[in-house]
Amino acid sequence: MTITIDRRGLVAFIDGDARLVAVQCSACGTHAFPPQLACPRCGAPTELAALPDRGALWSWTIQHIQPNPPYRAPEPFEPFAVGYVDLGPIRIETRLGGRPPDAWRIGDAVRLLTGPPDGDGDVWSYEFVPLDDAG
Ligand SMILES: [Zn+2]
Repeated sequence: MTITIDRRGLVAFIDGDARLVAVQCSACGTHAFPPQLACPRCGAPTELAALPDRGALWSWTIQHIQPNPPYRAPEPFEPFAVGYVDLGPIRIETRLGGRPPDAWRIGDAVRLLTGPPDGDGDVWSYEFVPLDDAG
């Protein structure tokens, strides 16, 4: 198994497959994303942990306001879906893509889709898309 983590520390490549990187508390087992040095529950040190790349939509909404820079929205701006995805050990907030923003339903099966790596191999964006739409 080969694990490569980009400089931002958000995305790991495990045998070439992209996974989001969280941390897990060495004392109480709590997960946190994005990674942080101390556990948000008990303050103990944390260890890196790759998250599952598939989960279920826990809740969602439609964002109608363009985010402030450094976010780079496509022009012209169009509302998009954001939500919480339950990955098992943790729920994470994420952009949702791959279908119209009003077409999501709680419980939908989703998978991680990372943006293209830059020239240094670092990934700067990700979203979750419907599991049944591809791969
Ligand atoms: Zn803890």
